Order: sequence, then structure tokens, then C-alpha cells
Amino acid sequence: MTTTIPKRKPLVIAGQKIRRGETRDLFLNFSESFTGISVAVPVRVIAAKRPGPTVFLTGTIHGDELNGLGIIRSLLMSNTLPLKRGTVIAVPVVNVFGLENVSRYLPDRRDLNRCFPGSPTGSLSARLADTIFREVVLKSDFGVDFHTAAIGRTNFPNIRGDLKDPKVRELAQAFGSGFIVNGRGPAGSMRGEAVRAGVPTVILEAGETWKIEPGILELGVRGALNVLKHYDMLAGEPDLPPSQWLVEKTTWIRAQRGGVLTYHVAPGEQVNKGQILATNLDVFGQELNRIHAPRKGIVMGMTTMPVVKPGDAIFHLAITPKTLVHDASAKELSPADPQLMRRIRRHLATNIQVSKAAV
Ligand SMILES: [Zn+2]
Repeated sequence: MTTTIPKRKPLVIAGQKIRRGETRDLFLNFSESFTGISVAVPVRVIAAKRPGPTVFLTGTIHGDELNGLGIIRSLLMSNTLPLKRGTVIAVPVVNVFGLENVSRYLPDRRDLNRCFPGSPTGSLSARLADTIFREVVLKSDFGVDFHTAAIGRTNFPNIRGDLKDPKVRELAQAFGSGFIVNGRGPAGSMRGEAVRAGVPTVILEAGETWKIEPGILELGVRGALNVLKHYDMLAGEPDLPPSQWLVEKTTWIRAQRGGVLTYHVAPGEQVNKGQILATNLDVFGQELNRIHAPRKGIVMGMTTMPVVKPGDAIFHLAITPKTLVHDASAKELSPADPQLMRRIRRHLATNIQVSKAAV
């Protein structure tokens, strides 16, 4: 599909003019270390000879989320980006301080993804948000931001976006993740503010912190390539799943008792109302309680910590997803491309003990 792109001024990033046909590595200075040395976000800009859309790809806004870094780096390494037209702005690591400090947050203890669009005279986080928003987001026509679950949890891959906006909807479907969760995102999130500023943006939520997971890497690279193909920036047909499922509602299932869990389902599995999802045992192996599914749905996310206290979130359940795109040959709720999805499920559950529930 070809989208009409308004004529825009020549692209200038970090004060550098990007010429058509050029690939440039640039550094966006946004702060200084305690020793007064500049701290910068590394950015690669790939501009095709022909004009076309500008798309940004961002990772590691949360400093402990590495799948996005892996996906974007893999794209840049793969020689699969001979762009036909347009420009890609690739930012594998946005939160440079968070990554260096082994933390989701910035040194001022703020969550960067609640600080957009930022301010040039605000806090450290607000200044980084402002730099990224002005230099990357506002210079793009659309974008994909890569995330993982928060620490101690994992997410089955899903694209999230505000589907009320038809351009966001088109972008979400073009990625081809299998599951699309509808929602505007939290206040101050980059994707929410980008959409408000007229730059359609979606996020991929996939996997867990501190890992570059092979199945997620494969799905993320394929999704980014699909987007570039969809907007006619790359040659070739998008590799789309036979069905995509729309999730309008999700619910958290929380622990009622403290204890040690044995799981009976893995991320991405379909569950029925009343099904036993986990058994909670005490440290001596005495059963305390069982965790049941309140509704039919798909396990979109779950804790990877076997120990819980009352109130801890255990499962994030997507309630009765509806088909968005559906191939008649696809089984009900069976996720797209079963082979990749099966592999992802296996990888995501490697450090989780999943066994059959006792009858
Ligand atoms: Zn995140």
C-alpha cells in the first residue's frame, strides 16, 4: 500500500542534515555525567534515495527491557534494509542512563515513559523525553516502540495501540503480531503523546526484562519488516499471520494467599472459565489454594516469580479476543503461525515450572 506523505523539509537530526541515499550514525546529546562529559543517545538514520515516509523504531525506553534493542540491532545487521523509499530512524537504546544503571528508571527515579512529550528545562527525564520527542518522534510519520513486561513478569507478544485512530489501526495490523490490544496507553507515554501530536505509533509488548529472547527477536524483526513493506518502503510482500485477534478487555488475576506457585498454563495459552491456572503450596508442599480462570481468555502475561503474597499479580488475561483479520482455515483462538508461536511459548516458559493440575 502507498500512503501519501506530505512534502517535508530536509531531515535534520542532531544538527546534521541527512541527504537522500545516506546512512548516518548520530548522537543526540541530552545530558552530562557527574564528570561533565556529554551523554548521548545513539541513532542510526537510513535514508533511501527516493523520498517517502519516515518511520522511527525505538527500544529500551525502560532501561531493563532489552528485546527491543535486540530487534532493532538485528534489523540493522541483517542487510534486509535496502530501502526503496523513505527514511528509518533507528534508536536501539533510548534510556541510556537506565541501561547503564541496570534499571528500568532514570537516575532521577522517574519512569521515562510517563514523561513525554517532555520539556527542555524540566527534570533529567523530561529533558531526555523532550530530546527524543523533538528529534525523533516529531520528525517521523509513524513509529513502533518496543517493550517487554515489567521485571518478574513475561508477556506473550502483542501490539498495543489506540485503534480508534484509523492510521494506528492500519499500523497495528501491518505489524502482524497475532494479538492486538486496544488502548490509549498511560498518560505521558511516548506512544500516547506521539498519537496526540499526529504521529501514529504502536508498541510491541513481548517477553521479559534482561533478555534478548530468540522467538521475540524473530517476531519483532518480522513485524518491523512487515511495516516497512506495508508502506512500500521495502520490496516484497508482508509475512502476515493467517489471523489477528483484537483484545478489548484484559484483567489481572491476583494471589489470595502467600505461597509458592506451580503453574499449569504458559504464556499464550487459551484457558476456559474455571480452569485451574496454578496451585499455591506452602514451603512444606501443603496445598494452600488454587488459582482459577474467572473467564475464558488468553494468558497475555504472567509472573515468572514462583513466590507470591496476597495481591500480587499472577496472570494477565485477555478476555475473549475477537478476530480482526481471519483466515477461515485458522482454528478458533489459535494464534497465528503455530510454529513460531509454539517456539515463543516454549522460550517464554523456560524458567517457569508448568505442569498438569492435580485433579
Ligand atoms: Zn516498557
